[in-house]
Amino acid sequence: MSDTGKKPFLKFRTKEDHYTADACVVWCYDDRFYGVLKKFGKKQRFGNIDLVKVAGGAKGLVAEGDAPSAEREFLIAQIKTSVRLHHAKRIVLMLHRDCGAYGGTKAFPDAAAEKERHAAHLKTAKEYVMREVPAVPVETYFADFDGLYIAG
Ligand SMILES: [Zn+2]
Repeated sequence: MSDTGKKPFLKFRTKEDHYTADACVVWCYDDRFYGVLKKFGKKQRFGNIDLVKVAGGAKGLVAEGDAPSAEREFLIAQIKTSVRLHHAKRIVLMLHRDCGAYGGTKAFPDAAAEKERHAAHLKTAKEYVMREVPAVPVETYFADFDGLYIAG
């Protein structure tokens, strides 16, 4: 009574056409901040994006010192692949309030210190990505519980 593979478990029509990505987006997988990503995409009129959704979002692009970082290599390779395959028009880097990858809000003395650290990390990540992928504009955002802030 097995018909595995004979018909779809779930019927769904996926578009077969290739696309140009309006952005390659590096976003934390914390699902609390998925809603703000969807609203951001709508506001920016994104049709297609390449979403790189990983714990910590852009944190992985910030290497400690000069030590090689497997996470950073992985993320930059994902971004470069998005640019190569889907000609991503821009690169969006995100960090957010109360991120588990940073130990949450409790890891910071206060809200301002948390935001400041994230702004500094976004700057470092942006500079790194701009060096690696100079042809594509890079934008950075800090997601808070009351909205999305341009970080620089
Ligand atoms: Zn997070």
